[in-house]
Amino acid sequence: METVEYASRVPSVLVIDDHEQNRELVAAQLSAAGFAVREASSGPGGIQSCADNPPDLILLDVLMPGLNGFETCQRLRELPASRNVPIIILTSLNDLHTQEKAVESGADDFLTKPLQRTELLIRVRSLIRIKLLQTELRNSYQLILDQRNALLRIEGQKDELVAMLVHDLKSPLATISLNLGFLQEAPKLSIDEQEALADSIQAARQLETLAINMLSLGRAEDGRWVPTIAQMEIREIVESLARAFKHRLIARRQTLSVSCPDQGRILGDSDLLHRLVENLLDNCVKYSPAGSAIEIEVKAEQDGFLELRVKDQGAGIPPELRSRIFEKYVRLERNMQAAAHRSMGLGLAFCRMAAEVHGGRIWVEENQPRGSCFCVRLPVSGPTPCTTQQEIGAMAAVP
Ligand code: ADP
Repeated sequence: METVEYASRVPSVLVIDDHEQNRELVAAQLSAAGFAVREASSGPGGIQSCADNPPDLILLDVLMPGLNGFETCQRLRELPASRNVPIIILTSLNDLHTQEKAVESGADDFLTKPLQRTELLIRVRSLIRIKLLQTELRNSYQLILDQRNALLRIEGQKDELVAMLVHDLKSPLATISLNLGFLQEAPKLSIDEQEALADSIQAARQLETLAINMLSLGRAEDGRWVPTIAQMEIREIVESLARAFKHRLIARRQTLSVSCPDQGRILGDSDLLHRLVENLLDNCVKYSPAGSAIEIEVKAEQDGFLELRVKDQGAGIPPELRSRIFEKYVRLERNMQAAAHRSMGLGLAFCRMAAEVHGGRIWVEENQPRGSCFCVRLPVSGPTPCTTQQEIGAMAAVP
């Protein structure tokens, strides 16, 4: 006896034919080939058998009293249990019209009588194999879909939790920064105390920036970002940052030179632009060597745009990473270890979102003779009114 190797269980075939002798002949050939065969002597009987326990394949005779093979086939296709079961129509009429009707009624194949044993087995085997593969594919697809939905749910819950945590961290961090700054003004601090205080202020500021970047990006992604647009001076932002970074620059023996035109007025969200420049400057201090020079240059272009360049003498960004570096969580390999505790790769993603919200853009070039030059181009007239909440969300969500 030939064995059937399509699955761990024996595949089942339902033979629907009113002619007992024909039915038993087909059943005998299939049983001998290792299939589990069931029989039904009418269309309604076959439909009931399918509804109770769908087989892996149906062999269906055309000429039957009452419900004929085509009508039975149509009903079987409407039944959820047999919708995907392959059906082979058995007919003694070898004409094109019958074949077309077989296809129209939903059959997968047809065989003409008298049946040839080999042909019967080949068709039955291949259709059952296809059906099993389809079932496997459908199950795998469903599994992937379920896993994806579960992951999305978990991710949503995680995002909510992170947003809540970050939000709650913001005010205590601001208080810590403020109080440490206040202590820094105290007279008679020893050198060690001053250094400890400066380190603490720096750490608190980094945490604050991280919290704010995470919150802003999260809000922008959810479409909850509302920029506050007003006339503002880029020069004021740059000068206030130069003052805020003074201690850090001194501690790292870095110099900061600023070149800013008087006509640096633009329409924009001053808080957002302040944090954009702050992130860029923070990176220059972090990622370039002690004793190196940092430069901020602002130029009003002829075409109604303002260009801001933040340059350093660090290791720079390799050309192949210059566009990817603005994606969330992207950090340079070489910095992975050193930056593991302080870099999340969110700062530049925030900068891109902030530039694009203003209808501008950000990119990075090589600085000469070494280092990186981060360039921000902003329209002086502010963002176009068509920058909708959805567009802001889409900008922030770009991976
Ligand atoms: P983070 O805020 O965590 O530092 P960013 O998104 O600002 O993350 O920066 C992403 C990565 O880009 C950093 O981990 C660093 O490797 C690299 N990078 C950013 N700015 C500079 C720079 N000025 N010089 C060299 N590498 C930089």
